Amino acid sequence: MSPDHRPPATRSGKFGAAEGEGIVRCDACPVLCRIRPGRAGACARYANEEGQLVRTDPVLLMQHTLDEGGKVTTFAGSAWDGAPLDPARTFVTGVGAGTTYPDYKPAPFIVSAEHAGLDTVTVVTEGIFSYCGVKVKIDTDRHLGAETASVRVEGEEVGHVTTAEYGSQMLAIGGVRHLTGGSKREGSVTCDALLKLCSGEPLEIGIDGGRTLIVAAGQAPIVDGRPEMRMRVGCGSATVGIFARQWLGHVDEVIVVDDHITGVLTEHQSGRVLGMPPSGIRVRGRKSTPGRYFQVANPGLGWGGTDITEPMSIIHRIDPKVAWPGLRLLVTSTTGEDALYCLLDENLHPVPADMPAAVRAVVERIGENCEPSLCTVLFMAGAGGSLRAGVTENPVLLTRSVAQGETRVTMGGAPAYVWPGGGITVMADVTRMPKRAFGYVPTPAIVAPIEFTLPRAFYERLGGHAADIVHVDDVIREVGPGARVEGWRADNPWPFAGRGKP
Ligand code: SF4
Repeated sequence: MSPDHRPPATRSGKFGAAEGEGIVRCDACPVLCRIRPGRAGACARYANEEGQLVRTDPVLLMQHTLDEGGKVTTFAGSAWDGAPLDPARTFVTGVGAGTTYPDYKPAPFIVSAEHAGLDTVTVVTEGIFSYCGVKVKIDTDRHLGAETASVRVEGEEVGHVTTAEYGSQMLAIGGVRHLTGGSKREGSVTCDALLKLCSGEPLEIGIDGGRTLIVAAGQAPIVDGRPEMRMRVGCGSATVGIFARQWLGHVDEVIVVDDHITGVLTEHQSGRVLGMPPSGIRVRGRKSTPGRYFQVANPGLGWGGTDITEPMSIIHRIDPKVAWPGLRLLVTSTTGEDALYCLLDENLHPVPADMPAAVRAVVERIGENCEPSLCTVLFMAGAGGSLRAGVTENPVLLTRSVAQGETRVTMGGAPAYVWPGGGITVMADVTRMPKRAFGYVPTPAIVAPIEFTLPRAFYERLGGHAADIVHVDDVIREVGPGARVEGWRADNPWPFAGRGKP
């Protein structure tokens, strides 16, 4: 391994500059901290150990094992037993790898290995991302805030509500404008919020004109202090369609309340196909197509993401020429958490009644078909020109290689989705990444691991730093004793899979 490019965990003074009185200047990011002996820099990732710059977190090596069927599996208990690492099953991650700023230097680790007869290279680094943020998917019908409303942490604007998806509310948090374009405090609060979300920690956020939430990756959202339990089975129209046949014969009308598309069974195509007679019950809102109504109420925390708490308020009128006394009416939310069964009296007024067992069974089935409500956090970032220069002297060739699928991109071993189009814009599920994978620098920016894996011949062809390639055996020998070692996650594809010669 070239002494100029040794990974920070083993650096011997070549990185960082001695400034007298034992002080070392860290050159791993633009902050250029002057670190006194025994102290750490502003990000706590680098420290001065007896006049040498050292990385405080060890590099993370991951090793997979195979089950009897030859499938990749994790270590039992996910702990390494201390046995010698098998180079053929070891992946050097960017977690703790260190950064090379400015990145005309080769990446901290450029690792060669043979897999199924093919020479491969994995370029390993920690990226310093100023252009980054998270997309947060919150599985709930509840109205959290208007689209484009600001999302705040400690009063600072850190993001906004973006387009809702099917059964989920979406937030976009972070991004270069909040990190760099506002006040210093806005940038640092945004950076801290991103670090918490990427690390799976709970974060309290407020939405202008909306709700207060606690979100944590992989956990149920808490809305105004109340944990969400269920993600709806579908919109109101879908719910009507899914369960229409099961209601047939047990009710005369079903209204599924939904903030977006409320369904009315006997008008809906599914009710018509089943030959159900019209009930004469007309709900509020704007009719879209038969049995599908928009804007039946305002958005809120009530039934089906509306502000309805009195379900009968959704009824606009009941046609006396069509409805009949004794008509059996069910009103339910899209999760089945709220449901009311009524009978029309002699004056055609709905009167609450005991819900028959057969009707209750279908309402319970709606609930059974709801998935647990979760928060999902996807980290999204752009690998900048300088990061790419750590991989090759001709960065556009790397960009093209990634776009063509020759080069696989992982983040701490987790698969990264690469956006089509220009640049290398990636997204990764933070729950598939190792613990403590993220860090920060006070520029402010987020530090995240990134690895590029490709056949060695391709790496050389795209102008990679061939002279700095180190065999995985040597990496294990040099940094293995001080490394953090974990088992490979079985649900993450092995980056070398399918790379072998036929
Ligand atoms: S913030 Fe961290 S990476 Fe940046 S110069 Fe200081 S110690 Fe080095």
